[in-house]
Amino acid sequence: MNATLIDGKELSARITEQLKTKVSELQAHGIAPSLSVVLVGDDAASQVYVKNKDKKFKDLGLASEIVRLPKDITEAELLQKIQALNEDPKVKGILVQLPLPSQIEADKVIQAIDPRKDVDGFHEQNAGALMNGQPRVVPCTPLGIMYMLQDQGVNLRGAEAVVVGASNIVGKPIALLLQKAGATVTICNSKTRNLKAHTQRADVLVVAVGKPEMIKGDMIKAGAVVIDVGINRMADGKLKGDVEFESARQVAKAITPVPGGVGPMTIAMLVVNTINASILQSPEADTSLLLKF
Ligand code: NDP
Repeated sequence: MNATLIDGKELSARITEQLKTKVSELQAHGIAPSLSVVLVGDDAASQVYVKNKDKKFKDLGLASEIVRLPKDITEAELLQKIQALNEDPKVKGILVQLPLPSQIEADKVIQAIDPRKDVDGFHEQNAGALMNGQPRVVPCTPLGIMYMLQDQGVNLRGAEAVVVGASNIVGKPIALLLQKAGATVTICNSKTRNLKAHTQRADVLVVAVGKPEMIKGDMIKAGAVVIDVGINRMADGKLKGDVEFESARQVAKAITPVPGGVGPMTIAMLVVNTINASILQSPEADTSLLLKF
């Protein structure tokens, strides 16, 4: 079998066209979505991610600012900055780029963000809502994955879904979303015994670990849909996923490439979350305007 490529770049371009229409519609309602990205320090990968996000917003004619803060900033100073952004009515979405320097407790900072402005969906109120099956702001990467599966026409009802990786930002929320869609979900972590026995059962396999090419073709069920979230920068500068693409594509029915798979979807969903946050913070809070996928 030669798997269909799930082209995240192409899908995100299609979504962007819908977003342009929505942005014009919102202008007519006096709603101006805006994002503030807080970047602490000079981590090279973070700089690239933040620049890409900022560009996406600017390309759509949306307000976006990068709040650059020194790497030796204290936790108290950063919390003060978050508070100022919470209180600024022009700021509709706040994203704190992770990782943060070691003197700062990331969770404390995330919990300080006004949950209505938490466009990453990491605040415990948003995480709790997802846990209760009443999602409000859903983390961007899992939301993008669900959109990809929907676009591929994947029937999740009764499907065996296996998620490798159990982080708060990808593994756990995607597992909850898959379960909500009717899949039977297994979550694997670093202590999982015989990983292959789990991955081989998966009709839908989502891998979010951060270990280049750890999932080989012989660990995948014939005809599975494989979503590779991993982004690993190799010594030659190239990006690789957590799935060994060449062997996996011989077995899978459909697979996301790295780069050009989940990554572009994550940024598109950040725009979706920011637009929806802006609608809900507007005086009318007209829910009929919300983007729904
Ligand atoms: P984390 O480091 O937060 O979590 C990694 C998870 O993988 C942990 O739950 C860990 O288990 C688990 N794990 C580690 N080793 C194994 C193993 N051998 N077998 C099974 N599970 C294992 O990573 P993130 O979720 O933040 O990111 C994962 C990857 O996805 C990274 O490459 C990251 O760059 C990428 N990413 C890509 C995005 C995109 O837009 N495409 C967005 C976000 C992340 P344990 O819980 O036991 O420690």
